[in-house]
Amino acid sequence: MRSTDPGRVGRPHVVIIGAGFGGINAARRLRDADVSVTVIDRGTSHLFQPLLYQCATGALSEGSISTPIRHLLRRQRNAEVYCAEATGIDPVARTVTVTRMDSSVAEVGYDYLVVAAGMRTSYHGNEHLMDHAIGMKTLDDALAIRRKIFAAFEVAETLSDPEARKPWLTFAVAGGGPTGVELAGQIRELATLALEREFRSIDPAEARVLLFHGADRVLPSFSETLSARARETLDAIGVETHLGVHVTDVTAEAVQTTDKATGTVTTYPARTTLWTTGVEAVPFAGALATALGVDQARGGTIPVGDDLSVDGHPEIFVVGDMSSHRGLPGVAEVAMQGGRHAGAVIAGLVAGGADRPGFRYRDLGSAAYIARRHALLEAGRVRLSGRMGWLAWGAIHIAFLAGVRNRAGTVLVWATSLMTDTRRERAITYGDPQTARKSF
Ligand SMILES: Cc1cc2nc3c(=O)[nH]c(=O)nc-3n(C[C@H](O)[C@H](O)[C@H](O)COP(=O)(O)OP(=O)(O)OC[C@H]3O[C@@H](n4cnc5c(N)ncnc54)[C@H](O)[C@@H]3O)c2cc1C
Repeated sequence: MRSTDPGRVGRPHVVIIGAGFGGINAARRLRDADVSVTVIDRGTSHLFQPLLYQCATGALSEGSISTPIRHLLRRQRNAEVYCAEATGIDPVARTVTVTRMDSSVAEVGYDYLVVAAGMRTSYHGNEHLMDHAIGMKTLDDALAIRRKIFAAFEVAETLSDPEARKPWLTFAVAGGGPTGVELAGQIRELATLALEREFRSIDPAEARVLLFHGADRVLPSFSETLSARARETLDAIGVETHLGVHVTDVTAEAVQTTDKATGTVTTYPARTTLWTTGVEAVPFAGALATALGVDQARGGTIPVGDDLSVDGHPEIFVVGDMSSHRGLPGVAEVAMQGGRHAGAVIAGLVAGGADRPGFRYRDLGSAAYIARRHALLEAGRVRLSGRMGWLAWGAIHIAFLAGVRNRAGTVLVWATSLMTDTRRERAITYGDPQTARKSF
Protein backbone atom coordinates (compact mmCIF):
# COMPACT_ATOMS: atom_id res chain seq x y z
CA MET A 1 0.00 0.00 0.00
CA ARG A 2 1.21 3.49 -0.78
CA SER A 3 0.45 6.57 1.24
CA THR A 4 1.74 10.10 1.56
CA ASP A 5 0.53 10.09 5.16
CA PRO A 6 2.32 7.60 7.45
CA GLY A 7 -0.75 7.55 9.71
CA ARG A 8 -2.76 6.02 6.91
CA VAL A 9 -0.36 3.25 5.89
CA GLY A 10 -2.20 -0.02 5.53
CA ARG A 11 -5.21 1.31 3.70
CA PRO A 12 -5.39 1.44 -0.08
CA HIS A 13 -4.41 4.87 -1.32
CA VAL A 14 -6.73 6.50 -3.85
CA VAL A 15 -5.21 9.47 -5.67
CA ILE A 16 -7.59 11.79 -7.48
CA ILE A 17 -6.15 14.26 -9.97
CA GLY A 18 -8.40 17.31 -10.32
CA ALA A 19 -10.86 18.84 -7.85
CA GLY A 20 -13.47 19.88 -10.38
CA PHE A 21 -16.92 18.33 -10.60
CA GLY A 22 -15.58 14.82 -11.32
CA GLY A 23 -12.79 14.75 -8.75
CA ILE A 24 -14.76 16.19 -5.84
CA ASN A 25 -17.61 13.77 -6.42
CA ALA A 26 -15.21 10.81 -6.61
CA ALA A 27 -13.63 11.89 -3.32
CA ARG A 28 -16.99 12.33 -1.61
CA ARG A 29 -18.20 8.93 -2.76
CA LEU A 30 -15.17 7.42 -0.97
CA ARG A 31 -15.99 9.13 2.32
CA ASP A 32 -17.01 5.92 4.09
CA ALA A 33 -14.65 3.56 2.27
CA ASP A 34 -11.66 2.08 4.05
CA VAL A 35 -9.16 4.01 1.94
CA SER A 36 -7.02 7.10 2.23
CA VAL A 37 -7.78 9.67 -0.44
CA THR A 38 -5.40 12.30 -1.80
CA VAL A 39 -6.93 14.97 -4.03
CA ILE A 40 -4.27 16.64 -6.17
CA ASP A 41 -5.12 19.94 -7.84
CA ARG A 42 -2.89 22.59 -9.35
CA GLY A 43 -5.10 25.27 -7.77
CA THR A 44 -6.55 25.83 -4.32
CA SER A 45 -10.21 26.14 -5.32
CA HIS A 46 -13.00 24.12 -6.83
CA LEU A 47 -14.36 26.29 -9.63
CA PHE A 48 -17.99 26.53 -10.73
CA GLN A 49 -17.30 27.04 -14.43
CA PRO A 50 -20.94 27.51 -15.50
CA LEU A 51 -20.93 30.97 -13.88
CA LEU A 52 -17.48 32.08 -15.06
CA TYR A 53 -19.03 34.51 -17.53
CA GLN A 54 -20.82 36.32 -14.69
CA CYS A 55 -17.47 36.79 -12.96
CA ALA A 56 -15.96 38.01 -16.24
CA THR A 57 -18.68 40.64 -16.68
CA GLY A 58 -18.69 41.97 -13.15
CA ALA A 59 -21.88 40.34 -11.89
CA LEU A 60 -20.30 37.89 -9.42
CA SER A 61 -17.03 37.90 -7.54
CA GLU A 62 -14.40 35.22 -8.03
CA GLY A 63 -15.11 34.09 -4.45
CA SER A 64 -18.78 33.48 -5.28
CA ILE A 65 -17.98 30.96 -7.98
CA SER A 66 -15.13 29.14 -6.29
CA THR A 67 -14.74 27.28 -3.00
CA PRO A 68 -11.47 26.25 -1.30
CA ILE A 69 -10.91 22.53 -1.93
CA ARG A 70 -9.70 22.10 1.64
CA HIS A 71 -12.93 23.64 2.93
CA LEU A 72 -15.04 21.29 0.79
CA LEU A 73 -13.23 18.25 2.18
CA ARG A 74 -12.66 19.51 5.72
CA ARG A 75 -15.05 17.01 7.29
CA GLN A 76 -13.89 14.03 5.25
CA ARG A 77 -11.38 12.47 7.64
CA ASN A 78 -9.93 10.03 5.11
CA ALA A 79 -9.16 12.75 2.54
CA GLU A 80 -6.20 15.11 2.18
CA VAL A 81 -5.47 17.83 -0.35
CA TYR A 82 -2.18 18.11 -2.23
CA CYS A 83 -1.75 21.35 -4.12
CA ALA A 84 0.44 20.58 -7.13
CA GLU A 85 0.22 19.97 -10.86
CA ALA A 86 0.36 16.35 -12.04
CA THR A 87 2.90 16.19 -14.86
CA GLY A 88 3.69 12.52 -15.33
CA ILE A 89 2.79 9.00 -14.35
CA ASP A 90 4.61 5.69 -14.01
CA PRO A 91 1.92 3.01 -14.23
CA VAL A 92 4.39 0.22 -13.34
CA ALA A 93 5.70 1.85 -10.15
CA ARG A 94 2.19 3.32 -9.65
CA THR A 95 3.39 6.82 -8.97
CA VAL A 96 2.30 10.22 -10.19
CA THR A 97 4.90 12.95 -10.67
CA VAL A 98 3.77 16.34 -9.43
CA THR A 99 5.18 19.86 -9.55
CA ARG A 100 4.43 21.96 -6.51
CA MET A 101 3.71 25.70 -6.56
CA ASP A 102 7.40 26.44 -5.85
CA SER A 103 8.38 24.35 -8.95
CA SER A 104 9.83 21.53 -6.84
CA VAL A 105 8.97 18.01 -7.98
CA ALA A 106 7.67 15.04 -5.97
CA GLU A 107 6.28 11.54 -6.51
CA VAL A 108 2.96 10.41 -5.06
CA GLY A 109 2.20 6.69 -4.94
CA TYR A 110 -1.26 5.24 -5.57
CA ASP A 111 -3.17 1.99 -5.45
CA TYR A 112 -6.10 3.44 -7.40
CA LEU A 113 -6.00 6.55 -9.56
CA VAL A 114 -8.93 8.71 -10.68
CA VAL A 115 -8.01 11.28 -13.32
CA ALA A 116 -10.47 14.17 -13.55
CA ALA A 117 -8.24 16.98 -14.81
CA GLY A 118 -10.67 18.43 -17.37
CA MET A 119 -10.05 20.48 -20.49
CA ARG A 120 -8.50 23.77 -21.55
CA THR A 121 -9.27 26.22 -24.34
CA SER A 122 -8.34 25.00 -27.82
CA TYR A 123 -7.28 27.33 -30.61
CA HIS A 124 -7.42 24.47 -33.12
CA GLY A 125 -3.72 24.75 -33.97
CA ASN A 126 -3.82 28.55 -34.42
CA GLU A 127 -1.92 29.24 -31.22
CA HIS A 128 -1.09 32.80 -32.28
CA LEU A 129 -4.77 33.68 -31.72
CA MET A 130 -4.20 33.12 -28.01
CA ASP A 131 -2.32 36.43 -27.81
CA HIS A 132 -5.44 38.50 -28.51
CA ALA A 133 -8.46 36.21 -28.06
CA ILE A 134 -8.94 35.20 -24.43
CA GLY A 135 -10.51 31.83 -23.73
CA MET A 136 -13.03 31.11 -20.99
CA LYS A 137 -12.03 28.13 -18.90
CA THR A 138 -10.29 29.29 -15.74
CA LEU A 139 -10.61 31.99 -13.11
CA ASP A 140 -7.58 33.66 -14.69
CA ASP A 141 -9.44 33.75 -18.00
CA ALA A 142 -12.51 35.31 -16.38
CA LEU A 143 -10.44 37.97 -14.62
CA ALA A 144 -8.48 38.72 -17.81
CA ILE A 145 -11.76 39.13 -19.71
CA ARG A 146 -13.12 41.39 -16.97
CA ARG A 147 -9.98 43.51 -17.21
CA LYS A 148 -10.23 43.70 -20.99
CA ILE A 149 -13.92 44.65 -21.06
CA PHE A 150 -13.82 47.34 -18.39
CA ALA A 151 -10.54 48.74 -19.65
CA ALA A 152 -12.10 49.10 -23.12
CA PHE A 153 -14.93 51.26 -21.75
CA GLU A 154 -12.43 53.34 -19.78
CA VAL A 155 -10.18 53.96 -22.78
CA ALA A 156 -13.18 54.88 -24.97
CA GLU A 157 -14.32 57.40 -22.37
CA THR A 158 -11.02 59.27 -22.67
CA LEU A 159 -10.99 59.52 -26.48
CA SER A 160 -12.52 62.62 -28.04
CA ASP A 161 -12.70 61.26 -31.60
CA PRO A 162 -15.90 59.17 -32.00
CA GLU A 163 -14.28 57.10 -34.76
CA ALA A 164 -11.33 56.24 -32.53
CA ARG A 165 -13.73 55.08 -29.83
CA LYS A 166 -15.56 52.59 -32.00
CA PRO A 167 -13.04 49.70 -31.93
CA TRP A 168 -12.85 50.06 -28.14
CA LEU A 169 -16.61 49.79 -27.94
CA THR A 170 -16.76 46.74 -30.21
CA PHE A 171 -16.71 43.35 -28.48
CA ALA A 172 -16.35 40.22 -30.60
CA VAL A 173 -17.24 36.77 -29.32
CA ALA A 174 -16.16 33.71 -31.29
CA GLY A 175 -18.49 30.75 -30.76
CA GLY A 176 -22.28 30.56 -30.49
CA GLY A 177 -22.47 27.72 -27.98
CA PRO A 178 -23.73 28.34 -24.42
CA THR A 179 -20.57 30.15 -23.27
CA GLY A 180 -20.42 32.48 -26.29
CA VAL A 181 -24.13 33.28 -26.13
CA GLU A 182 -23.98 33.91 -22.39
CA LEU A 183 -20.95 36.17 -22.71
CA ALA A 184 -22.39 38.15 -25.62
CA GLY A 185 -25.70 38.66 -23.82
CA GLN A 186 -23.99 39.72 -20.62
CA ILE A 187 -21.78 42.30 -22.33
CA ARG A 188 -24.84 43.90 -23.94
CA GLU A 189 -26.67 43.92 -20.61
CA LEU A 190 -23.66 45.42 -18.93
CA ALA A 191 -23.48 48.16 -21.55
CA THR A 192 -27.18 48.95 -21.62
CA LEU A 193 -28.07 48.59 -17.93
CA ALA A 194 -25.23 48.56 -15.40
CA LEU A 195 -23.04 51.21 -17.02
CA GLU A 196 -25.91 53.38 -18.20
CA ARG A 197 -25.37 56.46 -16.04
CA GLU A 198 -21.70 56.09 -15.16
CA PHE A 199 -19.89 57.63 -18.12
CA ARG A 200 -19.87 61.25 -19.29
CA SER A 201 -18.32 61.21 -22.80
CA ILE A 202 -19.50 57.88 -24.17
CA ASP A 203 -22.86 56.20 -24.19
CA PRO A 204 -21.99 52.60 -23.16
CA ALA A 205 -25.18 51.42 -24.88
CA GLU A 206 -23.47 52.17 -28.20
CA ALA A 207 -21.23 49.17 -27.56
CA ARG A 208 -21.45 46.67 -30.42
CA VAL A 209 -21.40 43.03 -29.51
CA LEU A 210 -20.62 40.72 -32.44
CA LEU A 211 -21.28 37.01 -32.06
CA PHE A 212 -19.64 34.78 -34.69
CA HIS A 213 -20.67 31.17 -35.10
CA GLY A 214 -19.76 28.55 -37.71
CA ALA A 215 -23.07 26.65 -37.70
CA ASP A 216 -26.41 27.83 -39.06
CA ARG A 217 -27.96 28.43 -35.64
CA VAL A 218 -26.77 29.41 -32.17
CA LEU A 219 -26.86 26.87 -29.33
CA PRO A 220 -26.95 23.85 -31.67
CA SER A 221 -27.04 21.45 -28.69
CA PHE A 222 -30.58 22.67 -27.95
CA SER A 223 -33.72 21.96 -30.00
CA GLU A 224 -34.36 24.14 -33.06
CA THR A 225 -37.27 25.85 -31.32
CA LEU A 226 -35.25 26.86 -28.28
CA SER A 227 -32.30 27.86 -30.43
CA ALA A 228 -34.64 30.15 -32.43
CA ARG A 229 -35.95 31.68 -29.18
CA ALA A 230 -32.40 32.36 -28.09
CA ARG A 231 -31.69 34.10 -31.40
CA GLU A 232 -34.80 36.29 -31.01
CA THR A 233 -33.65 37.34 -27.54
CA LEU A 234 -30.13 38.08 -28.75
CA ASP A 235 -31.56 40.22 -31.56
CA ALA A 236 -33.85 42.02 -29.13
CA ILE A 237 -31.04 43.01 -26.78
CA GLY A 238 -28.86 44.14 -29.68
CA VAL A 239 -26.29 41.35 -30.11
CA GLU A 240 -25.25 41.18 -33.80
CA THR A 241 -25.15 37.50 -34.65
CA HIS A 242 -23.22 36.29 -37.72
CA LEU A 243 -23.80 32.64 -38.63
CA GLY A 244 -21.87 30.40 -40.99
CA VAL A 245 -18.59 32.20 -40.38
CA HIS A 246 -15.34 31.21 -38.73
CA VAL A 247 -13.06 33.62 -36.91
CA THR A 248 -9.82 33.19 -38.85
CA ASP A 249 -7.58 35.86 -37.37
CA VAL A 250 -7.45 38.13 -34.36
CA THR A 251 -5.08 41.01 -33.71
CA ALA A 252 -4.99 43.64 -30.98
CA GLU A 253 -7.04 45.94 -33.24
CA ALA A 254 -9.34 43.70 -35.26
CA VAL A 255 -11.07 40.39 -35.76
CA GLN A 256 -11.24 38.70 -39.15
CA THR A 257 -13.92 36.23 -40.21
CA THR A 258 -14.26 33.95 -43.22
CA ASP A 259 -17.66 32.96 -44.57
CA LYS A 260 -17.81 29.16 -44.76
CA ALA A 261 -19.92 29.09 -47.93
CA THR A 262 -18.47 31.93 -50.00
CA GLY A 263 -14.98 32.30 -48.55
CA THR A 264 -15.58 36.04 -48.14
CA VAL A 265 -13.16 37.55 -45.64
CA THR A 266 -14.40 40.41 -43.45
CA THR A 267 -12.43 42.48 -40.97
CA TYR A 268 -14.11 44.19 -38.02
CA PRO A 269 -12.12 46.72 -35.98
CA ALA A 270 -12.49 45.43 -32.41
CA ARG A 271 -10.22 45.85 -29.43
CA THR A 272 -11.77 42.95 -27.54
CA THR A 273 -12.19 39.42 -28.90
CA LEU A 274 -13.24 36.53 -26.71
CA TRP A 275 -12.77 32.91 -27.74
CA THR A 276 -15.28 30.20 -26.83
CA THR A 277 -15.09 27.86 -29.79
CA GLY A 278 -13.32 24.79 -28.58
CA VAL A 279 -11.69 22.77 -25.85
CA GLU A 280 -8.98 20.14 -25.67
CA ALA A 281 -7.72 17.93 -22.86
CA VAL A 282 -5.19 19.51 -20.49
CA PRO A 283 -1.55 18.47 -21.16
CA PHE A 284 -1.59 15.76 -18.47
CA ALA A 285 -3.84 13.71 -20.79
CA GLY A 286 -0.95 13.44 -23.25
CA ALA A 287 1.43 12.22 -20.54
CA LEU A 288 -1.18 9.73 -19.35
CA ALA A 289 -1.89 8.39 -22.86
CA THR A 290 1.81 7.93 -23.60
CA ALA A 291 2.50 6.19 -20.30
CA LEU A 292 -0.50 3.87 -20.66
CA GLY A 293 0.01 3.25 -24.38
CA VAL A 294 -3.47 4.38 -25.42
CA ASP A 295 -4.50 6.58 -28.34
CA GLN A 296 -6.18 9.83 -27.38
CA ALA A 297 -9.69 10.30 -28.73
CA ARG A 298 -11.40 13.50 -29.93
CA GLY A 299 -9.99 16.65 -28.33
CA GLY A 300 -7.22 14.63 -26.68
CA THR A 301 -9.65 12.79 -24.38
CA ILE A 302 -8.82 9.36 -22.96
CA PRO A 303 -10.94 6.39 -24.07
CA VAL A 304 -12.32 4.38 -21.16
CA GLY A 305 -14.23 1.13 -20.78
CA ASP A 306 -17.70 0.58 -19.43
CA ASP A 307 -16.69 1.03 -15.79
CA LEU A 308 -14.68 4.20 -16.70
CA SER A 309 -11.30 2.50 -16.20
CA VAL A 310 -8.61 2.54 -18.89
CA ASP A 311 -8.27 -0.64 -20.92
CA GLY A 312 -5.49 -2.80 -19.44
CA HIS A 313 -5.26 -0.64 -16.31
CA PRO A 314 -8.17 -1.59 -14.06
CA GLU A 315 -6.77 0.56 -11.24
CA ILE A 316 -6.87 3.80 -13.33
CA PHE A 317 -10.15 5.62 -13.99
CA VAL A 318 -10.68 8.71 -16.13
CA VAL A 319 -13.87 10.72 -15.54
CA GLY A 320 -15.46 14.00 -16.55
CA ASP A 321 -14.51 16.10 -19.54
CA MET A 322 -11.20 14.28 -20.05
CA SER A 323 -12.90 10.93 -20.43
CA SER A 324 -14.18 9.67 -23.77
CA HIS A 325 -17.14 7.43 -23.04
CA ARG A 326 -19.84 6.71 -25.62
CA GLY A 327 -19.88 10.28 -26.90
CA LEU A 328 -21.17 11.73 -23.64
CA PRO A 329 -21.03 15.54 -23.63
CA GLY A 330 -18.56 17.59 -21.59
CA VAL A 331 -21.03 18.85 -19.02
CA ALA A 332 -20.97 19.06 -15.25
CA GLU A 333 -23.55 16.34 -14.67
CA VAL A 334 -21.55 13.76 -16.67
CA ALA A 335 -18.46 14.61 -14.61
CA MET A 336 -20.33 14.44 -11.28
CA GLN A 337 -22.01 11.13 -12.05
CA GLY A 338 -18.78 9.73 -13.51
CA GLY A 339 -16.81 10.75 -10.42
CA ARG A 340 -19.36 9.10 -8.15
CA HIS A 341 -19.31 5.97 -10.31
CA ALA A 342 -15.51 5.60 -10.18
CA GLY A 343 -15.63 6.18 -6.42
CA ALA A 344 -18.33 3.50 -6.04
CA VAL A 345 -16.39 0.93 -8.10
CA ILE A 346 -13.24 1.51 -6.02
CA ALA A 347 -15.20 1.37 -2.74
CA GLY A 348 -16.72 -1.95 -3.84
CA LEU A 349 -13.37 -3.45 -4.80
CA VAL A 350 -11.72 -2.33 -1.58
CA ALA A 351 -14.58 -3.89 0.40
CA GLY A 352 -13.72 -7.23 -1.21
CA GLY A 353 -16.20 -7.26 -4.08
CA ALA A 354 -15.26 -8.20 -7.62
CA ASP A 355 -18.05 -6.35 -9.43
CA ARG A 356 -17.19 -3.56 -11.85
CA PRO A 357 -20.60 -2.24 -12.90
CA GLY A 358 -20.88 -0.21 -16.10
CA PHE A 359 -21.48 3.55 -15.97
CA ARG A 360 -25.05 4.55 -16.84
CA TYR A 361 -25.46 8.29 -17.36
CA ARG A 362 -28.75 9.82 -16.34
CA ASP A 363 -29.35 12.88 -18.51
CA LEU A 364 -30.90 15.61 -16.37
CA GLY A 365 -31.00 18.13 -19.23
CA SER A 366 -29.22 21.38 -19.95
CA ALA A 367 -29.76 25.09 -19.47
CA ALA A 368 -28.35 28.29 -20.92
CA TYR A 369 -28.72 31.93 -19.89
CA ILE A 370 -29.44 34.36 -22.71
CA ALA A 371 -30.39 37.62 -21.02
CA ARG A 372 -32.23 38.95 -18.05
CA ARG A 373 -35.53 37.05 -17.73
CA HIS A 374 -34.58 34.87 -20.70
CA ALA A 375 -32.95 31.47 -20.36
CA LEU A 376 -33.43 28.02 -21.87
CA LEU A 377 -33.99 24.74 -20.15
CA GLU A 378 -34.26 21.44 -21.99
CA ALA A 379 -34.77 18.23 -20.01
CA GLY A 380 -36.37 15.35 -21.87
CA ARG A 381 -39.67 16.61 -23.16
CA VAL A 382 -39.60 19.67 -20.91
CA ARG A 383 -38.60 22.74 -22.89
CA LEU A 384 -38.68 26.11 -21.22
CA SER A 385 -37.63 29.52 -22.46
CA GLY A 386 -38.21 33.16 -21.47
CA ARG A 387 -39.12 33.87 -17.86
CA MET A 388 -39.90 30.25 -16.93
CA GLY A 389 -36.60 29.08 -18.36
CA TRP A 390 -34.84 31.87 -16.51
CA LEU A 391 -36.36 30.90 -13.14
CA ALA A 392 -35.49 27.24 -13.72
CA TRP A 393 -31.97 28.19 -14.80
CA GLY A 394 -31.49 30.26 -11.64
CA ALA A 395 -32.77 27.50 -9.35
CA ILE A 396 -30.50 24.89 -10.95
CA HIS A 397 -27.38 27.02 -10.74
CA ILE A 398 -28.00 27.94 -7.12
CA ALA A 399 -28.59 24.29 -6.25
CA PHE A 400 -25.31 23.19 -7.82
CA LEU A 401 -23.08 25.97 -6.45
CA ALA A 402 -20.75 24.56 -3.79
CA GLY A 403 -21.37 25.74 -0.23
CA VAL A 404 -24.23 27.47 1.57
CA ARG A 405 -22.30 30.74 1.71
CA ASN A 406 -21.89 30.92 -2.07
CA ARG A 407 -25.53 29.99 -2.66
CA ALA A 408 -26.90 32.58 -0.24
CA GLY A 409 -24.44 35.23 -1.44
CA THR A 410 -25.27 34.64 -5.10
CA VAL A 411 -29.03 34.86 -4.51
CA LEU A 412 -28.49 38.17 -2.69
CA VAL A 413 -26.24 39.60 -5.42
CA TRP A 414 -28.63 38.53 -8.20
CA ALA A 415 -31.62 40.02 -6.37
CA THR A 416 -29.76 43.29 -5.77
CA SER A 417 -28.60 43.52 -9.40
CA LEU A 418 -32.15 42.89 -10.60
CA MET A 419 -33.56 45.64 -8.43
CA THR A 420 -30.83 48.20 -8.99
CA ASP A 421 -29.38 47.29 -12.43
CA THR A 422 -25.89 47.39 -10.95
CA ARG A 423 -22.78 45.22 -11.23
CA ARG A 424 -20.32 45.78 -8.46
CA GLU A 425 -17.68 43.13 -9.05
CA ARG A 426 -15.62 45.23 -11.41
CA ALA A 427 -12.27 45.44 -9.64
CA ILE A 428 -9.33 45.04 -11.99
CA THR A 429 -5.96 43.77 -10.79
CA TYR A 430 -2.76 43.95 -12.77
CA GLY A 431 -0.46 41.42 -11.15
CA ASP A 432 2.72 42.80 -12.60
CA PRO A 433 2.47 46.61 -12.88
CA GLN A 434 5.33 46.63 -15.40
CA THR A 435 3.33 44.66 -17.95
CA ALA A 436 -0.14 45.83 -17.02
CA ARG A 437 -0.63 48.14 -19.98
CA LYS A 438 0.33 45.48 -22.48
CA SER A 439 -2.82 43.53 -21.67
CA PHE A 440 -5.04 46.25 -23.14
C1 LIG B 1 -17.56 28.82 -19.29
C2 LIG B 1 -18.14 27.44 -19.06
C3 LIG B 1 -19.50 27.29 -18.87
C4 LIG B 1 -20.03 26.04 -18.65
N1 LIG B 1 -21.39 25.92 -18.45
C5 LIG B 1 -21.92 24.72 -18.16
C6 LIG B 1 -23.30 24.58 -17.86
O1 LIG B 1 -24.05 25.58 -17.87
N2 LIG B 1 -23.77 23.35 -17.57
C7 LIG B 1 -22.95 22.25 -17.55
O2 LIG B 1 -23.43 21.14 -17.24
N3 LIG B 1 -21.66 22.34 -17.83
C8 LIG B 1 -21.11 23.54 -18.13
N4 LIG B 1 -19.77 23.65 -18.42
C9 LIG B 1 -18.97 22.42 -18.46
C10 LIG B 1 -18.57 21.94 -17.08
O3 LIG B 1 -18.05 23.01 -16.33
C11 LIG B 1 -17.55 20.83 -17.24
O4 LIG B 1 -18.17 19.77 -17.94
C12 LIG B 1 -17.06 20.32 -15.90
O5 LIG B 1 -16.40 21.34 -15.21
C13 LIG B 1 -16.12 19.13 -16.09
O6 LIG B 1 -15.71 18.67 -14.83
P1 LIG B 1 -14.29 17.94 -14.68
O7 LIG B 1 -14.22 17.50 -13.27
O8 LIG B 1 -14.12 16.94 -15.74
O9 LIG B 1 -13.23 19.08 -14.99
P2 LIG B 1 -13.05 20.51 -14.34
O10 LIG B 1 -14.25 20.95 -13.62
O11 LIG B 1 -12.50 21.35 -15.42
O12 LIG B 1 -11.93 20.27 -13.23
C14 LIG B 1 -10.62 19.92 -13.58
C15 LIG B 1 -9.72 20.20 -12.38
O13 LIG B 1 -8.46 19.63 -12.64
C16 LIG B 1 -7.45 20.54 -12.26
N5 LIG B 1 -6.27 20.20 -13.07
C17 LIG B 1 -6.11 20.31 -14.41
N6 LIG B 1 -4.93 19.84 -14.79
C18 LIG B 1 -4.33 19.39 -13.65
C19 LIG B 1 -3.08 18.79 -13.40
N7 LIG B 1 -2.22 18.47 -14.39
N8 LIG B 1 -2.77 18.49 -12.12
C20 LIG B 1 -3.61 18.78 -11.10
N9 LIG B 1 -4.82 19.35 -11.30
C21 LIG B 1 -5.17 19.64 -12.57
C22 LIG B 1 -8.04 21.90 -12.53
O14 LIG B 1 -7.40 22.89 -11.73
C23 LIG B 1 -9.50 21.69 -12.14
O15 LIG B 1 -9.72 21.98 -10.78
C24 LIG B 1 -19.20 24.90 -18.63
C25 LIG B 1 -17.83 25.05 -18.83
C26 LIG B 1 -17.30 26.30 -19.05
C27 LIG B 1 -15.82 26.46 -19.25
